[in-house]
Amino acid sequence: MTMNEQTNTPQRILIVGGGTAGWMTAALMVHHWAPKGVQISLLESSTIGIIGVGEGATPKMRRFFQTLGIPDQEWMPACNATYKCGIRFPQWSTRPGYESYYHPFFTMSDDASIRAFHHNVTLRQQNIDVQANPDWFFLSNWVAKKRCAPLPDPRSRYESDYAYHFDARLIGEFLRHWASARGVTHVVDTVTRVQQTESGDIAGVETEQHGLVDADFFVDCTGFANLLSGKTLGVPFMSYKPWLFNDRAVAMPTPLENPQSLPSETLSTAMKCGWSWKIPLTNRYGNGYVYSSDFIEPDAAERELRAHLQLTDDSVEARHLQMRVGRLARTWERNCVAIGLAQGFVEPLEATALMIVQDTVEQFIASFGTARALERQRDDFNDKINRVYDSIRDYIQMHYKLNTRTDTPYWVAARDNPNVSDSVAAILAIWDEGGDLLAEITRQRDRLAYSPTSWFCILGGMGRFPKKPRRATGKHQAVDPATARKQCMEMLRYFPDHRQAVDEMAKVTAI
Ligand SMILES: Cc1cc2nc3c(=O)[nH]c(=O)nc-3n(C[C@H](O)[C@H](O)[C@H](O)COP(=O)(O)OP(=O)(O)OC[C@H]3O[C@@H](n4cnc5c(N)ncnc54)[C@H](O)[C@@H]3O)c2cc1C
Repeated sequence: MTMNEQTNTPQRILIVGGGTAGWMTAALMVHHWAPKGVQISLLESSTIGIIGVGEGATPKMRRFFQTLGIPDQEWMPACNATYKCGIRFPQWSTRPGYESYYHPFFTMSDDASIRAFHHNVTLRQQNIDVQANPDWFFLSNWVAKKRCAPLPDPRSRYESDYAYHFDARLIGEFLRHWASARGVTHVVDTVTRVQQTESGDIAGVETEQHGLVDADFFVDCTGFANLLSGKTLGVPFMSYKPWLFNDRAVAMPTPLENPQSLPSETLSTAMKCGWSWKIPLTNRYGNGYVYSSDFIEPDAAERELRAHLQLTDDSVEARHLQMRVGRLARTWERNCVAIGLAQGFVEPLEATALMIVQDTVEQFIASFGTARALERQRDDFNDKINRVYDSIRDYIQMHYKLNTRTDTPYWVAARDNPNVSDSVAAILAIWDEGGDLLAEITRQRDRLAYSPTSWFCILGGMGRFPKKPRRATGKHQAVDPATARKQCMEMLRYFPDHRQAVDEMAKVTAI
């Protein structure tokens, strides 16, 4: 690979693929590397479409736009975007009081509620009858329930972290304009063959109309096709099928029931053989059913989703998708890094895919900021990315291990699945024996992507507790959930209505 001697970066980079991953990569690279003279091109096919789903994010996406200096007002109206306070999980657990729980995004302002919540969960874990469903403790749950935007009035002195929902196609378009205006060369063509050098590196891609397009370094953003690192360089793909059964999805939009009142949370509802997402945008819902084809046929899944959405209009088209779930053994191989669906995919239960895109690009860029040998940088980078994927897989699998449904063989098999990582096995063992979960998570911190409170939320929220709790007495000093709730209610007045907030933003942008 030809390197710029002064900056230790590749000189000419070709990103192949113009889905959300391709354009996020182009935007971050041009932002960091254009000032260093690195030339960045993006080549995408006009005939091979993008996946066109992927409409929910994590709070990391805020950092993406902050890094690029793009305020919410600039991009959100252009992408029909809404605010997201967290994710609600109805019907995963049948335990009384725990039929639904909420995974909020946390901020420093949540410190007191986190302590109270940990305290109650620990008591309940030790068989004392106290309220331990996270819904009661976290303000963002109530902000979402009341359909407010997570934008507190500064007078409240409350800080609220948040993420977004957006139209997957529009965000790609927005970033294409943004990155092209800053120097990314955009080539529209289809790759027909990938050429390699004698040593095995990628030399260039042959295209239908532009002949051979070469570069020093290549980014494989070709989605599930994985044209460069998988098909050409032969990097093995590590399937997650033993841990996670879902391999398909069916997606369809629906109108908002009441356009005047806009939800600010994702709903992830358990279905017969998987789960459905419901994502509010400013003009419609994005919906889909992620399921396992070992347990249900695509037609039956579509019918179940239509019934769940109460969709009587047969003309609404359903899109059926296959998912390659797992990750490459090595994200960076030779002079090519894979990003997005080409690199790997864990089912979107916690909407983590674009977070990994961002993480991968940032870590990749940071690798070149050090003076270490290229092989060492690459190996460290690959180890880190693999850990991120595996730890997200573990957290996602925990949802299935904790489910208590018995209505279909799918849920029973997912719960009884003997394939779990050592990490998940240790967390479950400590939990079930009433041990110190915080200490266990701290012990494992280098391999866990989620915070201790997220683990408390899922274990507490799904209600995996001893069945016959003892009555709480004064000495347990459990936090009264009614007090926690009252405090949240008082804070709610500082949060604006979500619909009004996004409409106001759109008006300002239009001016
Ligand atoms: C059911 C489902 C739900 C999801 N939900 C979420 C979510 O809520 N949150 C989240 O973060 N992520 C989600 N994802 C993941 C998200 O959709 C993707 O991570 C994101 O869209 C990025 O996709 P991509 O750019 O890697 O691939 P794609 O969108 O598939 O883009 C591939 C690109 O490669 C190009 N290409 C392919 N072959 C060639 C060729 N021969 N020549 C030239 N160009 C080529 C195509 O033209 C296209 O531009 C979901 C995914 C699925 C399947």
